[in-house]
Amino acid sequence: MLQAQKILKKYYGYETFRSGQEKIIKSILKGNDTFAIMPTGAGKSICFQIPALLLEGLTLVISPLISLMKDQVDALENIGIPSTYINSSLTAIEVRERIDHAKNGLYKLLYVAPERLESENFCHLLKSLHISLVAVDEAHCVSQWGHDFRPSYGAIAPLIKTLPNRPIVSAFTATATKEVKEDVVKLLSFENPNVYVTGFDRENLFFSVRRGMNKEDFILDYIKENKDEVGIIYAATRKEVEHIYENLRKKGYAVGKYHAGLDSDERKKSQESFIYDDLHIMVATNAFGMGIDKSNVRYVIHHNIPKNMEAYYQEAGRAGRDGEHSECILLFGAQDVLLQKFLLEQNPLSLERKRNEYRKLQEMVDYCYTTKCLRKYILAYFGEENIGNNCENCSNCKDDSELTDITIEAQKIFSCIYRMKEKYGTSLVAQVLKGSKNKKVLSFGFDRLSTYGIMKEYTEKEIKDMTNILIAERYLYLTEGQYPMVRLAKKSIDVLKNRERVLQKIPKIKEKAVTDSSLFGVLRKIRKEISTREKVPPYIVFADSTLRQMSEAYPIDKEAMLNIKGVGEEKFKRYGDEFLNTIKKYVQENQIKEVKILDHKIVKESKEEKIPSHIVTLNLYKEGKSLKEIALIREMTPFTIQNHIIRCATEGFDVDLDDFIPKEYESLIIKTIKKIGAEKLKPIKEVLPKEVDYLAIKAVLCKYNE
Ligand code: ADP
Repeated sequence: MLQAQKILKKYYGYETFRSGQEKIIKSILKGNDTFAIMPTGAGKSICFQIPALLLEGLTLVISPLISLMKDQVDALENIGIPSTYINSSLTAIEVRERIDHAKNGLYKLLYVAPERLESENFCHLLKSLHISLVAVDEAHCVSQWGHDFRPSYGAIAPLIKTLPNRPIVSAFTATATKEVKEDVVKLLSFENPNVYVTGFDRENLFFSVRRGMNKEDFILDYIKENKDEVGIIYAATRKEVEHIYENLRKKGYAVGKYHAGLDSDERKKSQESFIYDDLHIMVATNAFGMGIDKSNVRYVIHHNIPKNMEAYYQEAGRAGRDGEHSECILLFGAQDVLLQKFLLEQNPLSLERKRNEYRKLQEMVDYCYTTKCLRKYILAYFGEENIGNNCENCSNCKDDSELTDITIEAQKIFSCIYRMKEKYGTSLVAQVLKGSKNKKVLSFGFDRLSTYGIMKEYTEKEIKDMTNILIAERYLYLTEGQYPMVRLAKKSIDVLKNRERVLQKIPKIKEKAVTDSSLFGVLRKIRKEISTREKVPPYIVFADSTLRQMSEAYPIDKEAMLNIKGVGEEKFKRYGDEFLNTIKKYVQENQIKEVKILDHKIVKESKEEKIPSHIVTLNLYKEGKSLKEIALIREMTPFTIQNHIIRCATEGFDVDLDDFIPKEYESLIIKTIKKIGAEKLKPIKEVLPKEVDYLAIKAVLCKYNE
């Protein structure tokens, strides 16, 4: 194992194996058939790539997606491991050439698509190679119970049987249901395999479920706060993808879309732009993602509930492959369950499988309603044992939302639904409560109901949003069918009788902090330049986590650079100087003192222990100086000083913002911001009376957290 450890450091630049990797590698190296079940992003590839380097001859990797294959081979070549692939993108001559090279021992790994194995001719060629290990990636594709059944996976076992020397057989998947596990063991012609279910926990992922909220508003707010981050938004239908995509595009975000309705060129272009960091946000159906190895995805938002936990964990697991903190947010709406049921009904499955799918959907719905630890729920689903009760890293363990009492509103909505005889949808109910003069409302005589117009202070959208929350919280429910009617559930009676209060949860969206944002930004730029020059995705050059560590540790020589996680010798040879020079220049320009790395841990020797400028301003202000005086003392513009004060307030220092807001104008400023939006200050200032200055507007924005 010492050798495996050395390879991990030399080629991959990692110090230690992750949970499970060591056992799996050991098992393969001992010559045992090995079946590993690990979640997406846990690091399956290393488990067969390291044995491939240590075993004699060639490792044949069967991988379902052409794009993934190319990516993996690019990544391997990039760290100096000779490998290649054979798939339908090559000509017959190229295939022959690669087989010849393989025969001559030029590669350690050969990736092929399963469809190839259906060709007798190709299998014949394979017989001429010295294959010591077969690694079946995404092994669940062999099972009809899996969510990505690929009939050609059936050709793997016959191939193994006909090879002159039986290779070690290994298989990898993230799917752990009983049926799939049994199928993989049965159908891949394993001989007494060691089976490992390991490391399903992805500690760096924060899981959250948001029920019943206005999804559009949530997504816009979230993206506004995380605009520099990379993320994926999954939606259930093409129509929804188009809608969300348009919304974000109009706001000027670097967003792409991906669904089966686009032609393959459009899809490919969109996927590549995302991989190369030209697009930050990808809005997609579940058609997107297989084959996306991008390591710096910081969030995955599900706009709709997926059909089961396997699909959810696989899609959500595309966040944070680099081990950095990332978020997986599921937006739950009761209508989505109806949609999933409808899709299931359309599916020509056997009764038994349909029942199974319904059960799985229900388990997904239960996930959205559990009040216990979300991580524990997921891990228990996948069969992991000995899990703690609280992870402190999910929205149930760490409830970060604010509560608003909407009992009165709920009572009004319930009584209106009751008076409309529970026969209409949410839109009409909202119109009646708003007091709309809409034709339908009048023709049904709903203007004569006692609940007509009792919520006129709200917009129709606000009333509908609240109704959706009440549905999601199971005070109300929707009937099935094309035009769902909204009805009262038992739970609503207690609210109507004043026995229960309804509290709406409003999540707080936190802004992300970046280590040394300016150096991180500079390094990202260099990585992008290299990526364009070498035509490989940025994350293949270096992962975000590697750049982030560089911007914490400021490595300025080879030794320090090799201590950064993700910098192996080959990578150092390729990119080391470029990054070292940039960091050196940065360190000089910013007068950063030396940083030491001891035992691979970073010990920062104080980075300029200067008091930050805005705190100097705050201290003077606390001494009783006016902002004008401070500007004179510090020889700075009043504008800068104002910004210092606002920054202090934002960072939680004790600043009384009311000092800067004229009381008589406060509500007018709020109204104006609501009307115009808070994107730019100038348009707000222009419509307000002259005596309201910029500082007052900024203070209001800060006070109300806009
Ligand atoms: P999977 O195939 O299981 O979805 P990958 O093999 O693509 O996951 O690995 C996910 C990420 O984790 C990759 O960026 C990989 O380099 C990284 N990784 C794997 N093993 C380790 C390790 N021991 N230490 C640090 N990072 C690792």
